[in-house]
Amino acid sequence: MSETKNLIYAGKAKDVYETEKDDEVIVAFRDDITAGDGEKKDNLKGKGHCNSLISSKLFEVLESNNIKTQYIKLIENGSMLSKKLDMIPLEVIARNIATGSLLKRFPFEENQKLDPPIIQMDFKNDEYHDPMLNDEITISLGIATQEELDEIKNITLKINKILSEFLKEKGILLVDFKLEFGKDEKGNIVLGDEISPDTCRYWDIDTLETLDKDSFRKGQDNVMDIYEQVCNMIVNKEDLAKWGVSF
Ligand code: UDP
Repeated sequence: MSETKNLIYAGKAKDVYETEKDDEVIVAFRDDITAGDGEKKDNLKGKGHCNSLISSKLFEVLESNNIKTQYIKLIENGSMLSKKLDMIPLEVIARNIATGSLLKRFPFEENQKLDPPIIQMDFKNDEYHDPMLNDEITISLGIATQEELDEIKNITLKINKILSEFLKEKGILLVDFKLEFGKDEKGNIVLGDEISPDTCRYWDIDTLETLDKDSFRKGQDNVMDIYEQVCNMIVNKEDLAKWGVSF
């Protein structure tokens, strides 16, 4: 970043900095990558740039479809100017195909189509290892009200439709993904965080090949090649050129 700002929050792969405006923050994508509750770690040069470009594009697609997001604009490669939100400690997962942890916990068939999609809420809490919630537990813990949960589920289903259609045109099958929401100063529920290969499962629509962080989870040696490929598939050439990216 060009100026030194105060760090408000450091996550596993992103940092959040304050700006001169009270209601805006800068979200800076780092090259760190983690998996398995933070047990597996690495640093992949250029991953932060890739994820910031992919997230920006997907937030722009959602905004143009009337979904409220935290995103304002990409201010430099890897850094996004965003509205400040009071984050809700939920990992909202939408699933179109059964894979990953769902298969470890429940007797779904591998790659079974989930229609209607499954929405799952996990408690974002490292100490408790992000346990799965139900509405009653979430409400009792004071995380959200029933009305807020219903709204979050509705928005997530809309996002799933919009992104599935957009990505299909790019040759990508949206298998599952994780979202995080927060509240703005008026109490509106707004989409925050990121939407990138770190937080989604993308499969090549023809070959069903992994195009996301599963490549890192599985120990493949071409993780960065895959992130760059996805960036090329999702972000248009003009934007890549504007941010000085050529893969
Ligand atoms: N996910 C995430 N952060 C988490 C847990 C899951 O971004 O802390 C994403 C993950 O990348 C996948 C989806 O949510 O796209 C569903 O993940 P799953 O429950 O299958 O868990 P995993 O296999 O990642 O342990």
